[in-house]
Amino acid sequence: MAQPDGRYAPSPTGALHLGNLRTALLAWLAARAGGGRFRLRIDDLDAGRSRPEHEAGQLADLRALGLDWDGEPLRQSARASAYATAVGALEARQLVYPCWCTRAEIREAASAPHGDLPEGAYPGTCAALDAAGRAARERAAGGRPPAWRVRAAAAEVVVEDLVLGPIRGVVDDFVVRRGDGTHAYNLAVVVDDDDQEIGQVVRGADLASSAPRQAWLAGVLGLRVPSYAHVPLVLGADGRRLAKRDGAVTLADRRALGESAEQVRGALAASVGLAPPGAAPSLDELLAGFDLARLRDRGPTVWNPGSGPLAAGRR
Ligand code: GLU
Repeated sequence: MAQPDGRYAPSPTGALHLGNLRTALLAWLAARAGGGRFRLRIDDLDAGRSRPEHEAGQLADLRALGLDWDGEPLRQSARASAYATAVGALEARQLVYPCWCTRAEIREAASAPHGDLPEGAYPGTCAALDAAGRAARERAAGGRPPAWRVRAAAAEVVVEDLVLGPIRGVVDDFVVRRGDGTHAYNLAVVVDDDDQEIGQVVRGADLASSAPRQAWLAGVLGLRVPSYAHVPLVLGADGRRLAKRDGAVTLADRRALGESAEQVRGALAASVGLAPPGAAPSLDELLAGFDLARLRDRGPTVWNPGSGPLAAGRR
């Protein structure tokens, strides 16, 4: 049986911090330990925030940690026609519909209970419009183009996550194409992961709630449904996602403090129990016996700026 290929998909909107780097390391180890390929994807759909210099810096950091990848990175900004084909396939099966709802309207409508849908989910306001209803909404929107949403009919999906266990989700009618014509994250990820033949998605736990939507959409589009492993995050001391305000949290910051890339990599591995604290194991040493299951039952790592690269206490 073919080994599952893995990937890392950074958004080039800033420098990778230690949490991002740890996720990349874990994704690489998971792919390579199984003998699979490791692919990169540049998630630059957000043209306003994506910068070539961030992308270059991110790739340089991955290389400095010894992480290599197969083939050229796939760039989401160059993939509009693949995404449009997928939306077209959904449209041909009447599985998408235009939606003129504004954010404020959705907030208001979503605050009322809607069956099994989770809080904040799109309640389906535009799903049942007939031609006259659509025309009225279009007129009322004064020429503002609609977003396109999938018809998910509150499908119940369970994703068996290799780290988190079962992730249950009720899929709402999420956006696949925005009003401004750009394609939405959930659609792009599913189309790209299939294109890159990704069999195993390893990424941060902040994206776990997206997995049911993505697994559902991949199934509906007849694409491969990868296995998922959502790995623990690194949080700032305040419990929020790690960020610049937390101090020396990038590889460049750590190097400026005199640490080598190998030491940082060792600290990243140690912070999830894959190496003893203070060790700087080689990638081969880390690969030997690597098992995603060892990350189970591990909460997020809380960053402690006073205690070395990532010697932070767990939980
Ligand atoms: N680009 C996303 C991020 O940096 C990751 C998307 C994914 O792994 O599916 O958070």
